[in-house]
Amino acid sequence: MSSQKETRVDAVVVGAGFGGVYQTYSFKSAGYSVRCIERAPTAGGVWYWNRYPGAMSDTESYLYRYSWDKEDLLTYPWPNRYVTQPEILKYLNHVVDKHNLRESMQFNTSMESATWDAEQNLWHVVCDTGDVFAARYLVTAMGALSEAHFPQIAGLNSFAGRLLHTQDWPDDIDLTGKTVAVIGSGSTGVQLMTAIAPRVKRLVSFQRSPQHSVPTGQGPVSEEERKEINANYDKIYEKIWQSNSGFLTNESDRPMSSYTPEQRQEIFEWLWQQGNAFRFNMSKFSDITTNEEANRETAKFIEGKIAQIVKDPKKAKALTPKTLYHRRPLCDTGYYYIFNQDHVDIVDLRETPIESIVPEGIRTKDGTVHELDVLIFATGFDALEGTYARTKITGRDGHTIAEHWKNGPSSFAGVSMAGFPNMFMVFGPQGPMSNGATVVEVEVRFIMQLIANVEKSGAATESGAKKPKLIEVKPEVEAQWRKLCDKEAETSILKKATNSWIFGTNVPGRKPIVTFYFPGLKGWLEITRKEAEQGFPSYM
Ligand code: NAP
Repeated sequence: MSSQKETRVDAVVVGAGFGGVYQTYSFKSAGYSVRCIERAPTAGGVWYWNRYPGAMSDTESYLYRYSWDKEDLLTYPWPNRYVTQPEILKYLNHVVDKHNLRESMQFNTSMESATWDAEQNLWHVVCDTGDVFAARYLVTAMGALSEAHFPQIAGLNSFAGRLLHTQDWPDDIDLTGKTVAVIGSGSTGVQLMTAIAPRVKRLVSFQRSPQHSVPTGQGPVSEEERKEINANYDKIYEKIWQSNSGFLTNESDRPMSSYTPEQRQEIFEWLWQQGNAFRFNMSKFSDITTNEEANRETAKFIEGKIAQIVKDPKKAKALTPKTLYHRRPLCDTGYYYIFNQDHVDIVDLRETPIESIVPEGIRTKDGTVHELDVLIFATGFDALEGTYARTKITGRDGHTIAEHWKNGPSSFAGVSMAGFPNMFMVFGPQGPMSNGATVVEVEVRFIMQLIANVEKSGAATESGAKKPKLIEVKPEVEAQWRKLCDKEAETSILKKATNSWIFGTNVPGRKPIVTFYFPGLKGWLEITRKEAEQGFPSYM
């Protein structure tokens, strides 16, 4: 325990992204004193750090927001089908101000450690600013994807130009007229390259694995469409809480084989014109991610589109995956088309790997030195473990999260860990695989239910007369949950992907894990609803 003077609060929330903002609001509106600490200078979470050009949500605007502020749902503007990073940042800060949450928030502050004090039943939270808090409840809403993955490439630090990672985009960079390389072609790389292609002198994608991408369908939302959505918001959310994905109000239960080959092609084409990767995957066919034949047919359709769009056969070949359609689905605003411009090129690292980074740029194994002004890593994240490695969280009996996760990150329901009483995670490992904006809502509500359950019994008094009842998940429940998550992921074709953060395989040295509860929102809500109805039997 620290000898510094501690500020006593009921709860500390770490992180002011989508999860932390709602968690802070929930504590505040339930009458708890709360301090939310955030390492960035403002609220926003991943949407503060990922400021790279083109950053945009690929959940449709009307669902990429909180459902709990009905007035805001009806009035807050979102002129286009998708919200961009600056719009999301503005929206989150608007919510913070509208609900007077800024007074409970402290920016430019990182949690260095949190230690459970079993004598006093408190968490002691030490920050890099020198602030120390003592709190009954600790909620980490630090995000699963908040630590950059920088692959160790020989000579990385020798580059004489500007070296960037999309996860920490500087404000002072102007790419106009520059020769730029991008390493990484996932959700981030595809958005970034599409956005910067028109303004750079030369753009080269150093691509290790091409992925299948479909159009977003980005475009303006008419007044009539908005009115229609507003008139139906209650019904829309009723359906969303009944969905697996949290993205769609119409998830198909018809397998691809129930359509004729001609019908399938018509449907694919219609889906392509509509846009949205999640709609493409789930709204018309039920088995794209579970049936290999259906998956291959989908992949083939997208590969046909690549062949149609990309004129240069060499570039088209490099952009065409030779795998199943088994990564996190991508969508774009014209990605394949940028390769029809002479100043946009691609190096297929499957054929010509990178040998090293040199002061001038990238040297590939064929001896070519690709001279560059700017080298951008869009190489993703050291998910979960990377995030939690930034701080030392010590639970009961000196047991740290690093020790708890020695076989890979785990939790019960994405929220609780055995041996970490009165601590909760928002978007922790093995939470529902669904739209992040809905996941944080249901998880925060579950956390508040758990807290209300012990507090209503009067057990959590601070009189000292009786030991407050703690909220601590049973170890066997956490172990069973992990097994269940492994089992639920078994039949998914996504499991066949290599180098995927969803399975903990994108960062060398990390233990493979199943990061999500695959049945998604609906299944997770059924389980946690039962927990609440039965008095939370998974907790001691
Ligand atoms: P990612 O999906 O992990 O992709 C990383 C990319 O970097 C891959 O193309 C990977 O190639 C490449 N890479 C990694 N190490 C490399 C190396 N040593 N040499 C060459 N290439 C290398 O990361 P991300 O694109 O940042 O996306 C991560 C997640 O963030 C997404 O799944 C999504 O959940 C979220 N995200 C969402 C949005 C949105 O809402 N629209 C936007 C951006 C990100 P390999 O495939 O060969 O490993």
